[in-house]
Amino acid sequence: METKISGIHHITAIAGNAKRNYDFYTRVLGLRLVKKTVNFDDPGTYHFYYGDEQGTPGTILTFFPWEGIVQGRRGSRQATEIGYSVPSGSLAFWQDRFEKNNVIYNKPAEKFGQKYLTFLDPDGLKFELTEVETDTRKQWLSPEIGTENAVYGFHHVTITANKMEATAQVLTELLGYKLAATEVNRHRFVTNAVEYAAIVDIVEAPGEPIGHVAGGSVHHIAFRVKDEETLMHYRDRALAMGLHITEKIDRNYFYSLYFREPGGVLFEIATDNPGFTVDEPLEELGSNLKLPAQYEADRQEIEKVLPKLD
Ligand code: ZN
Repeated sequence: METKISGIHHITAIAGNAKRNYDFYTRVLGLRLVKKTVNFDDPGTYHFYYGDEQGTPGTILTFFPWEGIVQGRRGSRQATEIGYSVPSGSLAFWQDRFEKNNVIYNKPAEKFGQKYLTFLDPDGLKFELTEVETDTRKQWLSPEIGTENAVYGFHHVTITANKMEATAQVLTELLGYKLAATEVNRHRFVTNAVEYAAIVDIVEAPGEPIGHVAGGSVHHIAFRVKDEETLMHYRDRALAMGLHITEKIDRNYFYSLYFREPGGVLFEIATDNPGFTVDEPLEELGSNLKLPAQYEADRQEIEKVLPKLD
């Protein structure tokens, strides 16, 4: 069991204005900022991690906010939608909240027997809130959002493909997902290795133009493994399938491998260890600017160029 992929670890997307992103996710959506650091490849840019209290894998949404970035476009060869689970009966609350906060949303609809609400974040990134009967994950609560409405964590992520076969093969043969259901052109793949954040949907849309990954787009999807030994097991297996996969990379809060699946979406595999409390106590998560060791000497300059959030 321990060598399995345990669903989604995190999802990373691209934003424009940092403060607008921070305000939307912490206040409107009510997530916890669990880490405020910089893009390790571009230290003049933030890297925000939002999630539950501890930043549990399966709840973590991360952003690179690049001021002035061009707008991306949803399309094929992309992850096109991020799904969160919310309590049964909470969609009316969210509709009202979106209305009051000028959030673009659609009327609730239903698929696979579950009610959901689609909305866009301030950069146009597409989300769904899906009502679920039971979810035992401990929610992060904020002054305006209590247990009866607060998000639990990821429900699913959706990939759009012109032809789904190659992507489906990676999901099933490498990552352990199984096709569980199909509605029209949406194919739902589920792993039984974990209870939550266990769903990847592929929407097969033959005529859909190729999307452009930029502002308001998903950058990559990270899948979850227990530890580094399991990580390297997947590296061997990916190589055996002919995929081009990176060496192990230390991301401070997890260890990672990256590869582009044949359908064009960047996939990552990331470990549970060491987690977000490696450089900050639980109570203080997200309240300090944390820098990787190689940038600590430049802290003053980095703090000067990073946008203010208050
Ligand atoms: Zn990542």
